[in-house]
Amino acid sequence: MQQEVWGAPPHPLPPRLFGAAERPLLVELTLMRGREAARPCAAVRRALPAVAAVAALALASVLFPAAGAGPAPAAAAPAIWAHDSVGAVSPSQVWYLAEGATAGDFETWLLVQNPGEVPAEIDVKLHTGEGERQGPHDTVPPRTRRSYDLGEYAESYHVSSLVTASAGVVCERAMYGRPVVCLDPGHAATPSQIDPETGINTQDWINEPEIGIVYDIAVRAKAVLEAHGVRVVMTKASAYDPVNLKRRAEIANQARARMIVHIHADPGLSAPTTLYPGPAPYDWKANTETGRVARIDPAVQAASEAAARRFHAAMVAYLRQAEGTGDGGVVVENRGTTGTGNYGPIFSYDIWSEVPTFTLENNLAFADAHRQEIAEAVAAGVLSSL
Ligand SMILES: [Zn+2]
Repeated sequence: MQQEVWGAPPHPLPPRLFGAAERPLLVELTLMRGREAARPCAAVRRALPAVAAVAALALASVLFPAAGAGPAPAAAAPAIWAHDSVGAVSPSQVWYLAEGATAGDFETWLLVQNPGEVPAEIDVKLHTGEGERQGPHDTVPPRTRRSYDLGEYAESYHVSSLVTASAGVVCERAMYGRPVVCLDPGHAATPSQIDPETGINTQDWINEPEIGIVYDIAVRAKAVLEAHGVRVVMTKASAYDPVNLKRRAEIANQARARMIVHIHADPGLSAPTTLYPGPAPYDWKANTETGRVARIDPAVQAASEAAARRFHAAMVAYLRQAEGTGDGGVVVENRGTTGTGNYGPIFSYDIWSEVPTFTLENNLAFADAHRQEIAEAVAAGVLSSL
């Protein structure tokens, strides 16, 4: 969303357009963006011709109620935005809807109203950034409405619709936005495989009973986050889903997630700890037989560290309040203690990450006994760092 779009006052339109009155209306329009929900970023207050006022109101219907503005999760509003539009004055057999996106945070819905007395057979062609895709093909009965999630037909940031109908219909395009977050419950049995680019072994391993405990925590955290309007992508469909270390990062990358949270538990740990990737290279002699050195993207590293700090503060505050736990702090990954032998270094998933990435560790026994509390703390951390 560009500032110039939302900050610009409505352009004066010719009088009498659509038969509107010339009498000026006083319009006050407050536009809000991103994290600054409490502080309007642009305000328009002026006398406008009636038609311009309609345009202003249409613009104002695009709402951005502050994804992650940061209230405590117990009271957090869903980090959702939505888009509405004005109605049509007559049905038509052809509709062009140029705007739309179905990838990442975006949902686009096509709404078809058949106000007539005969069934309308509709055919939708989606013109996307990747070419034409077949959209919904359906018969809309008289005096009914059908809604179609275009994400079921194409995943793209560029989705426009061409609707043709056998009888006059009215079409509207509604868009909704939800932040996407990736949760990665640790461990899986995957084969030894050297990533050709980095020389790092992507092999993960089963770590009982951690694998089952952290998967359960992730599923619980997913439910809490979804209740707050967040779309959650999981790296695994079951506790033993064989997803290797590289694939975990790729899943978050493909989803364009705001962040990926790797969830682990370790018997040696005394208090909840959030680990982030440092800028140092991954110089894994045990895993890089060719001597290659892998580095995390500097921008991803910086974003990961910042997200980890925001996440940790809210996560630990929640657990302290709920369970009186201590604080293990926000620490840089110690890459010297894992990843020897045939397995990949556990934190090497960060190497392939294109989105902020960090790891939560809890004491294993504590995690086992406090799965729901940790899940809620994870959600609190994520919501605070969106
Ligand atoms: Zn682990």
